[in-house]
Amino acid sequence: MNLKKWIALGLTGCFLFSGCAEQREQAQTALENSQQENRHEATSFAMDTVMTFTVIHEDGEELIIDAEQEIRRLENLLSVTLDGSEIKQINENAGKEPVRIPTEILELLQTSKDLGTETGNAFDIAIYPIVKAWGFTEEEQSVPPQETIDQLLPLTDLNDLILDKENSTAYLEKEGMAVDLGGIAKGYASDSVKALLKGKGVESALLSLGGNICTIGNKPDGSPWKAVVQNPLDANDYVGLLEISDTCVITSGGYQRYFEENGKQYHHIINPATGWPAESGLLSVTIVCDSGTKADALSTALFVMGLEDALEYWKTQDDFEAIFVTTDGEVVATEGLKDSFTFEGKDNDFTYRMAER
Ligand code: ADP
Ligand code: MG
Repeated sequence: MNLKKWIALGLTGCFLFSGCAEQREQAQTALENSQQENRHEATSFAMDTVMTFTVIHEDGEELIIDAEQEIRRLENLLSVTLDGSEIKQINENAGKEPVRIPTEILELLQTSKDLGTETGNAFDIAIYPIVKAWGFTEEEQSVPPQETIDQLLPLTDLNDLILDKENSTAYLEKEGMAVDLGGIAKGYASDSVKALLKGKGVESALLSLGGNICTIGNKPDGSPWKAVVQNPLDANDYVGLLEISDTCVITSGGYQRYFEENGKQYHHIINPATGWPAESGLLSVTIVCDSGTKADALSTALFVMGLEDALEYWKTQDDFEAIFVTTDGEVVATEGLKDSFTFEGKDNDFTYRMAER
């Protein structure tokens, strides 16, 4: 394995100490030892993905348990498949009656709806009937008949999700409708865990939720955390490195979940305008944003939009940056990443450019 691959595998969450002058060595070693003692890491499986939490804090071990509990709490509320989840109850009562839900869920649904409107419906949490028809929540996937897609599309309109703040209820107006927070829940969960840990005094942490990264502060040595932007065509390779402090890096890509039928690949990010997997000329979209919730929704939405529309949208916003990998082998980073993104895809014939406002 070449050096680049080793770095790709080992970088997330590991500390890279640079060599230091001899006179500083002792102090440095002492510092490293105390940092290592305070460095706690645990991996678990939740929300259908592998999560690794690295927390630098003397109570790190307990704090990670708290973080994992928070994830389970959210999973029980937000899962579209777990019996009894608030989301499942809303879906089961579609076309029947409004369901009372905690304010927290109401707010997340409202945020999801707003992001849907802002992105011209590229992000649509009411897409679930179509996601189901493709089998992405089942064991078996297959291309559904066009007739089925045509019948289901009218059930994916976000305007038919009625949120009533006063009574704290959510209502899907048509029978057969269903909401699915799969495109935003992990980002939201990382924000919640981040807030929880910060509230308990954590000043340095790295949260990886299925490869989506959210960080608190910097590494204990004061340098920024590093996140890799994966090569969508090779899980052991990357097209670039990001240096980040106290922010989130979230990627959506067709390569993450897909099936093959008659030699063609069909992935799990659906274009709500057609009901088919989005074919927008992109292999992946990585969003860098302080809000994990927004980063997650936007990674899905901008993937659907395609490069041109996504860049137009980015120009209207000032709270996120993005890295796109196109099917033509181009890596495009937005200009706010000028100092933090390093392109590393040249060996694999990727080309690179920076997009300006
Ligand atoms: P992942 O969760 O695999 O990291 P995403 O954040 O892009 O990837 O979310 C994809 C999931 O979101 C799909 O599995 C599906 O449940 C749901 N989804 C698919 N298409 C859309 C869409 N256009 N808008 C909102 N959610 C979507
Ligand atoms: Mg997403």
